[in-house]
Amino acid sequence: MSITEIKFYKVIEIPANICDNEDIKTKDEKTKGNSGEDRICYDMITDRKGGKWFRGNLHTHTTRSDGRLDPADAAELYRSAGYDFLALTDHWVLSEGDRAGDMLLLPGCEYNSPTGDTRKGVVHIVGAGMKTDPGIARGADMQTAVDAINNAGGIAIYAHPAWSLNSPDQIKPFSGLSGVEIYNSTCGLPSNTRPYSGMIIDLLARDGYILPVMAADDTHSYNGDETKSFIMVNAAELTAESIMGAIRGGKMYASQGPELYLALEGDTITARTSPVEHIFFFSDTCGGAVNTKSGMTGATYKIRASDHFVRAEAVDTEGRYAWSQIIKIRNPNI
Ligand SMILES: [Zn+2]
Ligand SMILES: [Zn+2]
Repeated sequence: MSITEIKFYKVIEIPANICDNEDIKTKDEKTKGNSGEDRICYDMITDRKGGKWFRGNLHTHTTRSDGRLDPADAAELYRSAGYDFLALTDHWVLSEGDRAGDMLLLPGCEYNSPTGDTRKGVVHIVGAGMKTDPGIARGADMQTAVDAINNAGGIAIYAHPAWSLNSPDQIKPFSGLSGVEIYNSTCGLPSNTRPYSGMIIDLLARDGYILPVMAADDTHSYNGDETKSFIMVNAAELTAESIMGAIRGGKMYASQGPELYLALEGDTITARTSPVEHIFFFSDTCGGAVNTKSGMTGATYKIRASDHFVRAEAVDTEGRYAWSQIIKIRNPNI
């Protein structure tokens, strides 16, 4: 994580996918977009350090548990949709790493707390990229599961907190998480009603708990919950090691289609996007920061005195969203 001083505020934690001032200057001087427009952020395909953006879904069910497609058909569905990587994460069934044609298959499994009582805390943890079986027993508490996933070389993702009706206090005690699902496709219509966890993530961020933002399908029904929500990962190459390293470093954003990159200059955050209808910024200061213009490809946000975090979302003409990582801000005057 890089550290940048800006005016009276100190950004103490910047997502790794943000462009620093050096990137902006370099791009201004050297780079034009495909149609000749100035690019002030990473090139949309390959950044100046040679990194590429890869699309993947790390939460998928098959007939090995309660999903409707068998593993081979599920993998082929995602491969043919242009995904670069996928994890099959059936409940309590660990899948092995593999290749499905030109798509990378990461090992995966979903674990859950023994209780279904939301007052006690329903917790689902997705593990991906484990090099060995973490050996988690049913009934284990979920911090034990997170630790075992990390010890096995994987990443632990906090799944669908809104669907689980989690309060921030149920999530704060966890350590070792590599991400949280801000959007989970199958937790929305037509099967469920709480796909979006942005408010819980914002309440955590307000209190200083910053978790990397991810999106996933959690595909079960294949009735519209497939190939919808994903992460874009900025990695050097399509190998398990490279993708896992980039995710651990937070070099990613979440999306259903739009591209969304953040840049920081002075006390102004710039969001650059593919053409969208709205770009909005979230912080812990009350009051909206919504920008609306058909086909817009960027918007700015001036950091406010009472902000402790800022993140961005964008939505295109088809209602597809993109979600940035969270910028943590410390204001020494507060
Ligand atoms: Zn789940
Ligand atoms: Zn699931």
